[in-house]
Amino acid sequence: MRPTIFALATAPGRAAVAIIRLSGPGALAALITMTGGGARPGGARRRRVRKKNSDRGATAQAHYFAGPHSYTGEDCVELHLHGGVSVIDSVTAALLEQGLRPAEPGEFTRRAFENGKMDLDQAEAVADLVDAESGAQARQALGQLEGRLGVRYRAWREALIEALARLEAAVDFPDEDVPRDVGDQAREALEHLAAQLDAALADEARGQRVRDGYRIAVIGAPNSGKSSLINALSGRDAAIVTHIPGATRDIIEVPLVLEGYKVVLADTAGIRMTREPIEIEGVRRARAWAASADLRVWLVDQGAGDRAWREAVDLVHSGDICVLNKSDLPSGADLAEARAAAAALSLETLTLSMLSGEAEALATRLSIRVRRDLSGSDFPAATRARHKALLREARGHLGRALDELREPELAAEDTRLAARALARISGRVDAEEVLERVFATFCIGK
Ligand code: GDP
Repeated sequence: MRPTIFALATAPGRAAVAIIRLSGPGALAALITMTGGGARPGGARRRRVRKKNSDRGATAQAHYFAGPHSYTGEDCVELHLHGGVSVIDSVTAALLEQGLRPAEPGEFTRRAFENGKMDLDQAEAVADLVDAESGAQARQALGQLEGRLGVRYRAWREALIEALARLEAAVDFPDEDVPRDVGDQAREALEHLAAQLDAALADEARGQRVRDGYRIAVIGAPNSGKSSLINALSGRDAAIVTHIPGATRDIIEVPLVLEGYKVVLADTAGIRMTREPIEIEGVRRARAWAASADLRVWLVDQGAGDRAWREAVDLVHSGDICVLNKSDLPSGADLAEARAAAAALSLETLTLSMLSGEAEALATRLSIRVRRDLSGSDFPAATRARHKALLREARGHLGRALDELREPELAAEDTRLAARALARISGRVDAEEVLERVFATFCIGK
């Protein structure tokens, strides 16, 4: 018999209410022994939770959910208690005395998955919802939890299985018995699906960006005002502002919410030629972060007149944002040259002064970009690297199946592998180690 587990489902510490959750075949028996009374399925009862031979105890509202109509699919009990460390400790002691085991991180959701209450992508959505900091993250997680990702993958898999049936018909019957159009129908179905997977892959970054944050690198020469900009946008002193060039050596990542989307702003080391080993490493990290960012904000000190801005030009991508900073100072002789470089790269250019509190204009531009890049008409097909990898794997097999249509046996095998890759997203055909990895990132009590 499976062990019955328990965990504190609310945050520990001082609180109005604490909830301890139990799941497993012994949940109801433990409630009855500890309180001297049971509870109706779906109902709540006021009870006192006591250790053996103790007349004191904690007052609880005991809720009972009879399996399989519960979160985990097993018998579950929730004890709603007065919050506070001492109450939680005394109930925990009583539960341990009953032989219940403290739950591992994610163990409730893992049981829900194993009992068929949800697919793996929905279980992932539970963790994402708990971690959500922005409205968009929460909306996406909720959509995934409601099965919006699963519905799409199921439809694709069904189409693959239908194409597979046609290919197998072509294998099983001698040439003359197979209707000619069987191969054509299989080709048509596989091509249609390939186009859908291509569209999903073209859009693959969006879901992951909503979940993990849209990455904006702030780059430029030392002293161009990068740290001032980060602090102004985040409303706090996240980065050190100083007139000493080269102060930022490592990447400082600052999370923000813009337009309901999570954004990660990165303050990076000023880009310049240097012999100083720590600074060289800082510049290398700045380059790497900027290369993988979704957007770069390139700062140019328009008063410097020293062409130091040139060092960062090769990091900028077409369509990025250029901020000509320090507009309160007289402009340097090379300003026109910097403007021309920005125009040649089709950058959106803003003239601002961070010192005069003009960061808001940049925040507006950034919000527009984030919304444009992350809002889509469709629910994204991938919200994690795991989904992306399997989507790519399925597309690879599909491409091979299309190439092999003259040999239906081979095409059928690749079609089968493509369907399998898609099924692995829902976790129904996966190895233990994948499950371990997914559930290890959960918090205890979920
Ligand atoms: P970073 O090295 O690029 O991070 O630049 P900092 O943000 O540390 O700024 C370097 C220096 O320039 C500091 O002394 C800032 O106060 C100053 N600074 C930043 N923005 C402006 C601005 O718009 N106008 C003026 N006059 N000074 C600025």
